[in-house]
Amino acid sequence: MASGQWRALAEQFQVICPPGGHPGAGRPGALRAQVSCGHWVSAAGLRGWVRALLDQGVTSFRCPCCPDTPWLWQELCKLGLFSDEDRATLEAQILAQEGARGSYRQCPRCQHLVQRLEPGTLRTPCLPCSQRAGGLFCFCWGCRTEWRDPSSHADSRCPLQATLHDAPKIQAPGSYVHGCPSLRACPRCHALLTHTTQGCPMVICPECRYWFCYRCLGPYRAHRPSCPIADPQLVCGGGDAVTPMSRGSPVVPSVTGWILGLWEGGI
Ligand SMILES: [Zn+2]
Ligand SMILES: [Zn+2]
Ligand SMILES: [Zn+2]
Ligand SMILES: [Zn+2]
Ligand SMILES: [Zn+2]
Repeated sequence: MASGQWRALAEQFQVICPPGGHPGAGRPGALRAQVSCGHWVSAAGLRGWVRALLDQGVTSFRCPCCPDTPWLWQELCKLGLFSDEDRATLEAQILAQEGARGSYRQCPRCQHLVQRLEPGTLRTPCLPCSQRAGGLFCFCWGCRTEWRDPSSHADSRCPLQATLHDAPKIQAPGSYVHGCPSLRACPRCHALLTHTTQGCPMVICPECRYWFCYRCLGPYRAHRPSCPIADPQLVCGGGDAVTPMSRGSPVVPSVTGWILGLWEGGI
């Protein structure tokens, strides 16, 4: 769509409204709030605008007046203009879009969608969970496990990846699992487990009931005896973790600062 058409659409929805009052002030239906670009948006207008963009297959939202300023999904939700129902419907619509797969993740704790801040960064903060917990809550973009030490920038590795990589080897000569890492992640659900060193190398995941071989990580069915010992698993950081944003501008680093600033300023 040409920019003129976008502008017309934005006007039709009256997305941008004159500055006014406190966020959320006014009669119901006339709710308004200020977005990171400085513009004020109305609840009904924003809802219509987001839907219109989704109908066009666009999953990275932006201000109709500031084409270079992306609005992150979690930022829009933080405005408090969407009802729980609106949010659930819109999130389902986002997830149904092909282009959203690489740029959105569901928070493992609250299940709401978080849009990617910066490609290459695995530590992903969730604002609603941080608010609720009274402390910064982050999860790993790659494997969706909780980030154990969210305020530390010292180790940028995913916590699950670090645990798997640093696990010592099993020392049990005579056991089928001698020389295997002492921790494995279930190949299906990433739950952590270890082997008792007794009996056969097959284990069953206590979380998802998946049967697999602790040595080669192969599934129970396709298994052959005398299999090789697989290296510590790469659970994230590769594959589908980073794909280009769908149509629309990429997220600029300043947005990261804005989101983290929101937190540090006591959201
Ligand atoms: Zn704007
Ligand atoms: Zn969350
Ligand atoms: Zn991870
Ligand atoms: Zn499992
Ligand atoms: Zn095996």
